[in-house]
Amino acid sequence: MYPVIHYIFIFLCIPIFLIGQKERCGNEHIAPVTGSSQLKAETRSIKTIQLVFHVLYKVEEENISAQDILEQIDRINLDFAGKNEDLGLVPDVFQDLIGKANITFVLASETVDGLPFSGIFRQQTDLDNIANQISIDGKQVIKYKLLGGSDAYFPESYINIWIGRSDEVFGVTAPLDLAGTGDDGIIITPDAFGIIEDPESVTNLGRTLTHELGHYFGLNHLWGTSKGCGNDDDGIEDTPEQEAPYSDCPEFPQVTCGSADMFMNFMDFTNDDCLLFFSQEQVNVMRTTLEEIRSGIIVTTSDISSHTHDFDITVSQSDFELTITNDSSSLGETTLAIYSTAGQLIHKDMLNELFVHVIDTNQWPRGVYILAIYAVDQRFTHTFVAGY
Ligand SMILES: [Zn+2]
Repeated sequence: MYPVIHYIFIFLCIPIFLIGQKERCGNEHIAPVTGSSQLKAETRSIKTIQLVFHVLYKVEEENISAQDILEQIDRINLDFAGKNEDLGLVPDVFQDLIGKANITFVLASETVDGLPFSGIFRQQTDLDNIANQISIDGKQVIKYKLLGGSDAYFPESYINIWIGRSDEVFGVTAPLDLAGTGDDGIIITPDAFGIIEDPESVTNLGRTLTHELGHYFGLNHLWGTSKGCGNDDDGIEDTPEQEAPYSDCPEFPQVTCGSADMFMNFMDFTNDDCLLFFSQEQVNVMRTTLEEIRSGIIVTTSDISSHTHDFDITVSQSDFELTITNDSSSLGETTLAIYSTAGQLIHKDMLNELFVHVIDTNQWPRGVYILAIYAVDQRFTHTFVAGY
C-alpha cells in the first residue's frame, strides 16, 4: 500500500461549496491570458485532436464503457463547434458573442508509432476516491502507475483524460505550466462523465469535460481567481465581469458588477443543461493556447489515418454485418484486422485484392472495435460499434 493523503492539491482547490456537496470544478487559475485577439476567426482551420482515456474503476458502475466515451466525445465536439442543439437558449444579448472553436476531438486510434490503438486504458483499483489521492511527494496518484494509477500516454501528443471517482470535485485540469508533463491532462469523476440518465444529476450532459477542456486550452472561470468586483476577472473582454460562480440554473438576467452575467457560459458552474457556449474571445484564447503552447497535440487527417487516400476504402454497417469496399484496383498483399478496445485480435484476413469484404459481427459482444487494413506503405483505420 502506498502512502497517500486524502487531500487534493491546495492550488487546485477552492472550497466554496456547501459542505457535503461536490465542487463543480477544482481549478483555481489556469494561466495569465495574453494575446487573446491574435487569431482572426475567418482564418481558422479545423484542428483535430486525439484523446486517450484512462478508466480507473473500483466498482463495475465506474467502468465507463467505450460507447459512453464515444457519446461523451460527441458532446464536446458539438459544444466546441458551436453546433449544440440548445444554443438557441443563449439570451439574445449574447447571441452575437457565441464562438465556434473549430476544434474536433477523436478517440485516439493510433499509437505514437502508428499502430492500431483503442485509445482507452482500463484498470481496476482498490483505492477509494482515487481521483482525490495525493502521494506523499505530492503526485496525483491516478496519473502514476507506480502509485496505483495509470501513466499519462504521451501527453505532448494526446489529451489524457482520467476517469476516476472523486467525492470532492466533478473535474480538475492540470494548469498550463504542466503542459506536456506526466501530470498534464484532465480528471473527471464517473458521475460527471458522459450522458447520465438521472433527472437529479446536475452533470448529466457531459459538459464537465467541455468545461475542463476550456481550462486545458487556457481559460479561467468567468469570475477569475477571487470573487468580488473590481478584483481580478477572467481576462476575457467579451465576458462581463462577474462577482462569483452561479449554480443550478438561474433565470436571466442576473446582475453583478454592474452588468448582466453570462452564467450560461461553459466556464461557469451552472447545471449541464444550462451551460451553452464559449464566447468568441474565449475561442481566440483557446486557439492561441492550442497553436502556441499545445501545438504537439494537433493532428491532421493524414496523421491519423496515413495513406488512406491510396486505399479509397468505404465502410458501411448493418445490424449484423460490416461491409468494407475498396475502389482501388489492386493493393498487393493486404492484411485486414479487427481489434477490441482491449487490443485483442477479433478477426483477421489476408487479401490480395479487396473489392467488397463482408464480416459477420452478429456473434461479437457489444462493444467498440477497431478495423485496421495494412498493405505496403498503406494503411487505414476505422473505429466502430458492433455486436449484441
Ligand atoms: Zn473550472
